[in-house]
Parts: sequence; C-alpha cells; structure tokens
Amino acid sequence: MKIQMLDLSEQYQSMREEVFHKLDEVMSSSRFILGDNVKQLESDIAKYSNAAYGVGVGNGSDAIHIALQAAGVGEGDEVITTAFTFFATGGAVARAGAKPVYVDIDPVTFNIDPSKIEAAITPKTKAVIPVHLYGQMADMDKIKEIADKHQLAVIEDAAQAIGAKYNGRNVGELGTAATYSFFPTKNLGAYGDGGMVVTSDQDLAEKARVIRVHGSKPKYYHHVLGYNSRLDELQAAILNVKFPHLDKWSEARRERAAYYTEKLNEKLSNVIQTPIEKEGNYHVFHQYTLRVPNRDELQSFLKEQGIATMIYYPTPLHVQPVFKDLGYQEGDLPETEKAAKEAISLPMYPELKKEDQDYAVEKIIEFYHIRGIGNENLNGSRNASAARESSPSIA
Ligand SMILES: *Cc1c(COP(=O)(O)O)cnc(C)c1O
Repeated sequence: MKIQMLDLSEQYQSMREEVFHKLDEVMSSSRFILGDNVKQLESDIAKYSNAAYGVGVGNGSDAIHIALQAAGVGEGDEVITTAFTFFATGGAVARAGAKPVYVDIDPVTFNIDPSKIEAAITPKTKAVIPVHLYGQMADMDKIKEIADKHQLAVIEDAAQAIGAKYNGRNVGELGTAATYSFFPTKNLGAYGDGGMVVTSDQDLAEKARVIRVHGSKPKYYHHVLGYNSRLDELQAAILNVKFPHLDKWSEARRERAAYYTEKLNEKLSNVIQTPIEKEGNYHVFHQYTLRVPNRDELQSFLKEQGIATMIYYPTPLHVQPVFKDLGYQEGDLPETEKAAKEAISLPMYPELKKEDQDYAVEKIIEFYHIRGIGNENLNGSRNASAARESSPSIA
C-alpha cells in the first residue's frame, strides 16, 4: 500500500469540465489581470470571513507582508508572533522591514500562547500575528484584549485555517486583517500560487490594493513603495469553481480527523496525544498532527510501510540561520522546541479513504507494540513508564 500526505487528483477529476470551461472563458475574454474572477472571489471570500473587503494578492506570504505594510508596520517596528509556523510568517515581518519577536506556544493547540505576549511588548511593538496553525484558530479573545490595550494591529495568518471558527466568529472577523494562502496544498488550493488579505478596515484595504500594483495611485504616480503581487485571474477562476465546495471539504476533513482520533485512542491513548479541539473552536484540520514519543523512528517505520507523514515544523523560526542576528538560542522557547521534536502529521485530505486511515493506524499501533508500548502495558511495566516519560506533558 502507498498512502500520500495529500492526493489532489480525485478532486480535480470531479470538477475538470467546469475548470476547463472557466479557463476558456478567461482566455477568450483576454482579461488576465485583476478581472471579474478576482473581483468575484474577493467579494465571496470577504463575505465568508465576515469582513468588508478582500484584496487578492500573489501568494499567502505576500498577503502577510502587504497586510503589515498597509497597517503601517515597517522599519524599526517590532511584530510579536510564533516561531512554530511556516517560514513565511517571520519572513514577511522581516521583509516588511520590521523585527519578528517570537513568543512561546500553548502546548495544547500549538498556537501562540496569549499569556506570553504582554511580556514581549516594547514601545516599538506595532502588531501581533497569531497563526491559526493546522486549521485551529488561536485564542483570539485574549489576543484582542492585549492588542486593544496596547493599540497593536492583529494580523491573522490564516493560511491554514480558511473556514475555521472561534466562539462562533470567523477567521478575519476579529483581527485587524487576516491573510489566506491558496497554495495548491491548502484547504482552498489553486493550481499555482495565490493569496488574499481580508479586512473590515477600509483604509487598510485601500492601501493593500495600491501596494499590490507597485504603489501606483493614480496610475503611474507612486507615493508608497509597492510591488507586483496580484492574484492571477486564471487562478481566481479555478478558485471560484472550488470555493462552493469548501465547507463540505472541511466537514470531510473533520470526519477523517475524528476517525483517526477514535482509532488511535483505542490502543494508544496513554502513549500519543491526538489533536485537541478547544471548546468553541471549529478546527478545519489542514493538518492532522499528533505528538508522539520516538517521533523520527516512527516516521522512518511508516515510510517503510508506504505511509507518508510530514514534520510541521522541525526547526522553529527563532533558531533558523537567517534569523541568527535576532539573538535567540535553543532553550529560549521550550514549548515550541518540544513541539518541534514531537509533532508528526498524518495523511489528511477530504477524499482520504477509510482503508488508508485503517492501515496507517494499524502500522502506528504496530510500531509501538513492537517496542512494548501501548495502553495494555501501563500497569507498571518498564516500557510503558518509559513511554509515558517521553510522551507530551499536556493537560
Ligand atoms: C502556506 C503558509 C504561508 C504562505 O503561503 P504561500 O501562499 O505559500 O506564500 C504562510 N503562513 C503559513 C502558516 C502557511 O502555512
């Protein structure tokens, strides 16, 4: 058996005709830049996010950069964020000319720990970027409260969380702005790069629109330094075909996540930690991520059995070589570093087959069984206590 992390082929086959038709429409119209499809998607995604405006941009990384710049963040400013994320989060802060300030994560959700934010605020702090990692929103009420008190912008990095909810509120509703990525592997993926900024701040939206076209307003007059970062019309046309299916896909991801969790906990509840959905949250499971002991050995074992897994993320941003000048050291963010050693993501996509999930679960159980680790061994056996020792310390 061969199980991939993600297989986009079935989804494509189900909408092939419609995609062809839409692409033909765009190419026949010869309107390739910021045409009707981009406008349509901006309006639909803004509405979906309970935000007033959507600004389609080149990719999710530029979306963060542009949102920061449009919120007035630049040279000499500091931006508080998490180091347990894809590189683009910290990269966008640095590209905007600001300094990323990394704080530790909440070990339960892997998201930024709001109780660590206030201590990191200085007179230079201008914004906070919570990343809604793996598809679950960060603790926005607490983050908002701190941000409001200190007059900081909140830019939600929602690249992995389109459609997620927090206490009945949507991504993009609580922050100053939220940013999406339409990278092909994301929950709403294009067939190439794409991204969007959503916001209810009219001034921020207007600035973002200008920045994505070289800072040009009126045409050929440049008051701000922008660049070329627009959502491509063909990608927007594809996304307009896919978007109506998004909620159904999120539900399918949640069903698959629940199935993994049920099956894994039958045998390994004392050994591994399955994902925790916080009360009031609607997790859209961009990734299904476990904490496990013997993580790297498990990964090699599963690979031998034909099961793909991924480590999101093995090296946190505060210890990335490119950020060496920020002065962080190993040990500065203990929960982040622990998560980087324990987290492993299993295959997850809406079309994932039950048989594939069964096979993956069976092999994970087998891996621990060979080592004498499992629920049935927990009455005092040496191996079991060893397992407990290295298993996550989460409430
Ligand atoms: C994918 C991703 C991005 C960047 O999106 P791109 O479209 O690839 O530029 C930013 N942040 C997070 C958390 C991501 O997962």
